[in-house]
Amino acid sequence: MASIFTKIITGEIPCYKVAETEDYLAFLDINPNAKGHTLCIPKKEVDKLFDLDETSYHGLLEFSRQVAIAIEKAVPCKRVGMTVIGLEVPHAHVHLIPLNSMEDARFMNKIQLDKVEFQTIANAITSHL
Ligand code: 5GP
Repeated sequence: MASIFTKIITGEIPCYKVAETEDYLAFLDINPNAKGHTLCIPKKEVDKLFDLDETSYHGLLEFSRQVAIAIEKAVPCKRVGMTVIGLEVPHAHVHLIPLNSMEDARFMNKIQLDKVEFQTIANAITSHL
């Protein structure tokens, strides 16, 4: 069965898109740790990051770097943290999280945003790409 992220890639499930190339997609995490929390994924559905082929692995990291630089310009923060963690979705994904404190790097404290806030943040990040 297609992963929830593959359904986002195909448009079956909506997302707040931040960036897209032929091979990669970045969109806002629906349950963010902090404003601007973004997921970067390969369009190729592979469960575990380190099972990606070398080209896709390096490509995903380079794509994530470009998105992180845009996030840092768009979202007030001390720096953008990057983590690959979690067991929820079996489709490799890089979390990019704007950090103002180490609490933002924990996946315990979540923030609530409405649709307008999500869209505004996604647009702001995209405008810096
Ligand atoms: P992990 O597998 O790293 O633990 O977590 C997967 C992440 O994907 C979570 O932070 C969760 O909020 C996010 N997520 C799960 N389902 C969806 C979805 O349908 N849309 C979006 N935008 N994010 C999702």
